[in-house]
Amino acid sequence: MKYFSTRGGSQRLSFEETVLTGLAPNGGLYIPESIPSLPADWRTKWASYSFVDLSVAVLSLYISQDEISTEELRSLVEKSYSTFRHPEVTPIKKLDDKTFVLELFHGPTFAFKDVALQLLGNLFEFFLLRRNARKSPGESQEKLTVVGATSGDTGSAAIYGLRNKANISIFILHPKGRVSPIQEAQMTTVTDANVHNVAVKGTFDDCQDIVKALFANKEFNAKHRLGAVNSINWARILAQTVYYFLSFFHFQAQLPQGTSPEDIEIQYVVPTGNFGDILAGYYAKRMGLPIGKLVVATNANDILARFWKSGKYEKVDSEAPEGQGAAAPAEGASDGRQATDASGVKETLSPAMDILVSSNFERLLWYLAFENTEGADEEERRRLASQTLDGWMSHMKNDGRVEVPIAVLESARKDFFAERISDDLTLKTIKSYFEEHAYVADPHTAVGLAAARIVASQNPPNVHQIVLSTAHPAKFSEAVSRALEGSPSFNFDRDVLPKEFHGLLDKEKRVIDVERPDIELVKTVIEKVAEKEGTNSQGATGSI
Ligand SMILES: *Cc1c(COP(=O)(O)O)cnc(C)c1O
Repeated sequence: MKYFSTRGGSQRLSFEETVLTGLAPNGGLYIPESIPSLPADWRTKWASYSFVDLSVAVLSLYISQDEISTEELRSLVEKSYSTFRHPEVTPIKKLDDKTFVLELFHGPTFAFKDVALQLLGNLFEFFLLRRNARKSPGESQEKLTVVGATSGDTGSAAIYGLRNKANISIFILHPKGRVSPIQEAQMTTVTDANVHNVAVKGTFDDCQDIVKALFANKEFNAKHRLGAVNSINWARILAQTVYYFLSFFHFQAQLPQGTSPEDIEIQYVVPTGNFGDILAGYYAKRMGLPIGKLVVATNANDILARFWKSGKYEKVDSEAPEGQGAAAPAEGASDGRQATDASGVKETLSPAMDILVSSNFERLLWYLAFENTEGADEEERRRLASQTLDGWMSHMKNDGRVEVPIAVLESARKDFFAERISDDLTLKTIKSYFEEHAYVADPHTAVGLAAARIVASQNPPNVHQIVLSTAHPAKFSEAVSRALEGSPSFNFDRDVLPKEFHGLLDKEKRVIDVERPDIELVKTVIEKVAEKEGTNSQGATGSI
């Protein structure tokens, strides 16, 4: 299987090159040359497979044997998911007759990004070790320096994915004192030698600006060959397709006796930010997993919900009444105003979904362009689809908006619904699921549950819903406590706090303080560490 850029060109990459490169040089994202179909006997053969078995079965459809053998793949996958606390890795839980949650938060950092990042870290290590083993004595070794910024909720998943990996160092910048104590502790109590937490006196935007400037600094980037922390890496999408298959089988196994699976339609509801999680569901569906609609659930950062309404993909809502665009305060916050940062991103109770544009949406747009393109053959249609996509993306870059033809919007509506959920409804949903089902949802999951309810009211009776639960409620204690403060039976420590978080705040920490948001200071930190780790190395590009 080879991969090519959504924005075209003749470049064809192996899986290894795709994973190590991340973003294509022409700005596009890599997608497989074709979407493989399932083996004829998948329904019976795979039905009893574990998460690991399914990972091997699904991933090997996208990775050539001569790149990673089945035995190697199995050992990588086993290692990756041995860090999960639940034997099923991603179990489903029944909330009522027609609603299940698919819990994706049983990994080391209690959030769904672990599913992809645990595997990605091992893939990186596998590729680097193999490359270095092939070098002749004296030749410099390939290394990878991953640099990223976090506002708190996702940095730890990257750190846990890369901790203690050979030939890789990771630097994660966070704004000192501005991330929640639990989130700060989740990052800084990782004391492996290759993990470097950098606490910058400043804001999250300062941290992000420094990371951007480091990447833009050609000399520095070339010397250290920096890798980025972002969700566009193909391996992350691929890893996430697996739990759609697993939950499909687990759901079927729970159907009441006498119910024929053919009579039931499964709808997946996905709390969405960068469109990575739900895109994995789209691939599973295109491969042949018989599922119904995929529901995009967004918070007030609703660029996707607006796209499915109007066919317009635009950073600022051009149809909002005066003063209600993305840069203006919106409803949702308790004081009636909602803070927006300098770029126009709204701050919500589900911060891991606070985005202005959804980076992985480009991959879906490519498929939509392809479906609506005529050409002499596949190759010609692919070329034309990339051309169309490239045009859309340059509109996006130049004007912050693009409108797709109605036929394209109709294609998008065949597979997806989309709903936008306010903070207010998010809180109410946490409360009602606790009171009615004794289930404590985190605010991201609650966005999904709220969207599921709205869509369910229009579903035919044979539709069942699986809502993806993307974080453990203890990770977002503030929102959960706020939602449940009036519930007498609720006790955070007893009902929510996992034992792994007990004493976390008192554990040994390792963190490098940076006194000002100054790129030179951060450069010095990275230089010093690189010196200590030995300079006889050659960087490898990479991005997670
Ligand atoms: C990243 C994240 C999401 C959004 O996933 P995307 O793949 O970016 O759509 C939702 N919830 C949580 C808790 C996350 O960390």
